[in-house]
Amino acid sequence: MSAPLDSGRAQTYRGRLAPSPTGLLHQGHARTYRVAGRRAKDAGGVLIYRDEDLDLERCKAEFSRAALEDLARIGLEWSEGPDVGGPCRPYRQSERGAIYRDMWNRLRSSGWIYPCEQSRRKIRETIAASGAARPATKAGGGPGLDLDLAEARLMDPVFPPELRPPVMRAPDFRANNPYLRVPEPGDINWRFRVPDGEAINFVDGRRGRQSFRAGRDFGDFLVWRKIADMPSYEFAVVVDDHLMGITEVVRGADLLVSTARQLLIYRALGWTPPEFYHCDLVRDDDGRRLAKRHDSVAVRALLDGGASVELFD
Ligand code: GLU
Repeated sequence: MSAPLDSGRAQTYRGRLAPSPTGLLHQGHARTYRVAGRRAKDAGGVLIYRDEDLDLERCKAEFSRAALEDLARIGLEWSEGPDVGGPCRPYRQSERGAIYRDMWNRLRSSGWIYPCEQSRRKIRETIAASGAARPATKAGGGPGLDLDLAEARLMDPVFPPELRPPVMRAPDFRANNPYLRVPEPGDINWRFRVPDGEAINFVDGRRGRQSFRAGRDFGDFLVWRKIADMPSYEFAVVVDDHLMGITEVVRGADLLVSTARQLLIYRALGWTPPEFYHCDLVRDDDGRRLAKRHDSVAVRALLDGGASVELFD
């Protein structure tokens, strides 16, 4: 493996295409990736292709291959990726385990993370017992935002702070974090302890100013998953975007809350975050966003049926 690009910000625009190979790409993906392609081109920059095949249970090699083919078919070109190589290889998350472990060590040393034994069931029951209503606040502005945010929250309820280990509830938890010298993630999940009540602000290239409140819009989130002995999506994507020198992240608006979480990881590691541009989600006639699980029409089926690539603009 050659040296990663972790020494400061790259000079030229570096965007990325980062599909998760859990199914065939649909129209919504294609639209987002076409926006990423246009923004890289307009900036005179390059695209990096990263195969986000971290979730070994849901990802399949056939979908990895299909995504590479489909994105080429809709006119995208990348200068680094699993098929062409490049200075930041490997470009498949499943092959980056050693890098993630190294970065887990750094994150653990920051004092912001802790091992968490709470089951999903326990988390659900605690939320139900506390009678905590889902937050009904608006964050930021822009088209379709409330619907997108509501969906993101439904998928990921706020982790109840009372389920933190007692030492992580104290204001000075970072100094007294008893896990600072744990050598390995081990057979347990790890969570990022969010700064309760702090506003996490950023300016989105498409939607303008965004503001989320830690502890209200999102709670302590997973950074390491024991089930796969791999990082969570949130942690892996920050590590990869940083080491691959990404200057702008273009992705769907369903990931706005994730961006707020990811900014906390950047800060804990002392890294400068990239710019962000969150595309509107493509919805069907019933207002449901297109997703692989809704049997949306696959990009390749549309192209095979004679659709032109402009259908995805
Ligand atoms: N791999 C993620 C997905 O396809 C996107 C990650 C990102 O853009 O940050 O949903």
